[in-house]
Amino acid sequence: MPVKHYDVIIAGVGSMGSAAAYYCAAAGAKVLGLEQFGIPHDQGEHAGQSRIIRKAYFEHPDYVPLLDRAYANWNDLEVMAGTPIYHETGLLYLGQPDHPVMKGIDTAAHKFHIPLRTLTNTSIFPAFSVPEGFEMRYEPHAGFLQPEKAVSLYVSEARDLGALIHEYEPMISWELTPNGVSVQTSLATYTADKLIISAGPWLSKAVPALQEQLQVTRQIVCWAEPDEIEHFTPAKFSCWLIAEPDQPGALYGFPALDTTEFGPPAGLKFAWHHAGDPADPDAVNRNVTEKEIRELVDRVAKYIPALKNAKLNTVKTCLYTNTPDEHFIIDHLPGTKGKVSVAGGFSGHGFKFVSVVGEILSQLALKGKTDMPAEFLSLKRFR
Ligand SMILES: Cc1cc2nc3c(=O)[nH]c(=O)nc-3n(C[C@H](O)[C@H](O)[C@H](O)COP(=O)(O)OP(=O)(O)OC[C@H]3O[C@@H](n4cnc5c(N)ncnc54)[C@H](O)[C@@H]3O)c2cc1C
Repeated sequence: MPVKHYDVIIAGVGSMGSAAAYYCAAAGAKVLGLEQFGIPHDQGEHAGQSRIIRKAYFEHPDYVPLLDRAYANWNDLEVMAGTPIYHETGLLYLGQPDHPVMKGIDTAAHKFHIPLRTLTNTSIFPAFSVPEGFEMRYEPHAGFLQPEKAVSLYVSEARDLGALIHEYEPMISWELTPNGVSVQTSLATYTADKLIISAGPWLSKAVPALQEQLQVTRQIVCWAEPDEIEHFTPAKFSCWLIAEPDQPGALYGFPALDTTEFGPPAGLKFAWHHAGDPADPDAVNRNVTEKEIRELVDRVAKYIPALKNAKLNTVKTCLYTNTPDEHFIIDHLPGTKGKVSVAGGFSGHGFKFVSVVGEILSQLALKGKTDMPAEFLSLKRFR
């Protein structure tokens, strides 16, 4: 059989890979996307109905220019597909003013003139119990994205532009050739000028050189239905993020979504954003213990008392791929002369950037460099 040649092969068509496939195809490239599961699926990092998007970026203000582009690109996708993906609910932040999360929000908002209100009247959000010494910030132009829908739309737009996207065809190995790369899958061998590896939790299996920089962790997400659920719909209840004293990361959650529009599960979704227990993506313990659930519910119910005795609808596991500094990795892979680009280590906060990361990856592959301010996410920082 003759080997089929492409301009770009994308290994891993999940969050980042779906957008990369679209942007490469939109730039006129002959694209092959390889995904080991169906699209979308719930074994990686993109499942679970909703993802928060916000701009007052406490993780580092350098992300804000990328977020400006991400918001614009999400809007482009919505216009192109004729359907909403971003839902503006606003975002309420709670925490002590000297907590690094609260300080980071203030710093990013101040530096980039992001609308952010300090609230003094706790009765504006009656569902919350705000502890003594906590402050409240409100970011009006924040909300949530629909991850499965976004991934599916990028794939369908890419296919409309001629990209071939093969589901259930894992990349087994890859190697450099004099003219590009050769990729072996479960079914065939393909060659390409360029390879983008966006394998999420499997990235260090596909690129063992990145093992030291990547740790996969198991995360838990709950959906619960309090009494009077009508007080928790997006019209009355925003997304939220709580920086607890003496705890890494933050608690966060969403309004109760209409399952006819957003799909199941019903109820308020909430979780703890932090690095959970280390996991092998091929052997994840998907069982969640009563103790794990109780601990999470009790912590969140301290701030949203209606959740204390709420009916627990669903508990799911999901994966994070964490870097040592919790910043992303988006770069050419060293030693590949620009033929291979990698995107990974999104450390539990990458989805909002999918629409801009796809564009950056297409530029790295097709132009050899990106004009986006993403230098701070390069691998250089680990050398
Ligand atoms: C519970 C949870 C909540 C989150 N909340 C937020 C949030 O509110 N806001 C936010 O911005 N971010 C959030 N994130 C983070 C965000 O979802 C991730 O950063 C993002 O989805 C990572 O995308 P990815 O493309 O790296 O991984 P994935 O979406 O998992 O995609 C990787 C793909 O590669 C495929 N693959 C792997 N190896 C191969 C191979 N060899 N061959 C073929 N295919 C392969 C996988 O099957 C998968 O489809 C959350 C994550 C979790 C788990």
